[in-house]
Amino acid sequence: MTITADLSGRTALITGASSGLGSRFARILAASGANVAIGARRKDRLEALAREIGARAAAIEMDVAREADIVAGFDAAEKAFGQVDTVIANAGIDGAGMILDMPEEEIERTLAINLKGAILTAREGAKRMIANKVERGRIVMIASITAFEPSPGLVAYSASKAGVVQAARSMAREWARYGINVNTISPGYIRTAINDEWFETEAGKKQIARFPKRRLMGEEGLDGALLFLCSDAAEFVTGSDFVLDDGQTL
Ligand code: NAP
Repeated sequence: MTITADLSGRTALITGASSGLGSRFARILAASGANVAIGARRKDRLEALAREIGARAAAIEMDVAREADIVAGFDAAEKAFGQVDTVIANAGIDGAGMILDMPEEEIERTLAINLKGAILTAREGAKRMIANKVERGRIVMIASITAFEPSPGLVAYSASKAGVVQAARSMAREWARYGINVNTISPGYIRTAINDEWFETEAGKKQIARFPKRRLMGEEGLDGALLFLCSDAAEFVTGSDFVLDDGQTL
């Protein structure tokens, strides 16, 4: 089933759009009428996606670990489409490995991309929306069920995602009077490049067998929540976290 909303006239900047969920978000937002500025480091993949989507998409090379890239990314998005009123802070890495063995640099990299990068992306979007008095600003940040579940092998990752949830609630409070709604989606496990190798291992297959429905989610599982949170219908929704996990945490 394809879910759509009326997002015509809106412009979204989506980070981590060169793969997996971010590519999916770009496709469904564009299919609902939004312009999409699609950001990530791998420009070739972004350009291929932009060609597929057509005139409503612009590929923007950016590394969310660097604030200068984020600022330049918003500049490029505005040049292509004008004011950005919707931000999807989705870029992330898995930072997987037992914490006893994880080098300090890997912990720092995970937090820099997943947490600091998401906060800086949301902040840059909000600064510009506030400066230009945008009505109905929308910021959606992609967290994870690991924000709430003990997650061995994902210590830095889960901490980064818990940070995203709480940062979003605090930003929602700071920006409430500017009409900017900030919410998070906490997905369960969906097979993408971030976890594909893990779910091919015996331990990964056992993890799937422990889920109540004995399966991973499909990428389409987030469509409805994402479109809702970006739409006018979410006028009264801010500071909320949407757990969409196919019951994996039950
Ligand atoms: P993915 O296919 O590996 O996509 C990750 C995306 O993030 C890629 O487009 C990657 O692009 C981008 N990215 C990584 N580092 C970046 C950086 N420094 N600057 C800009 N972009 C960067 O994985 P995914 O599953 O779609 O993950 C998307 C988000 O969903 C992540 O935040 C992830 O934690 C979250 N999530 C995923 C699951 C799941 O089960 N799949 C569950 C819960 C939450 P480049 O490498 O081209 O930069």
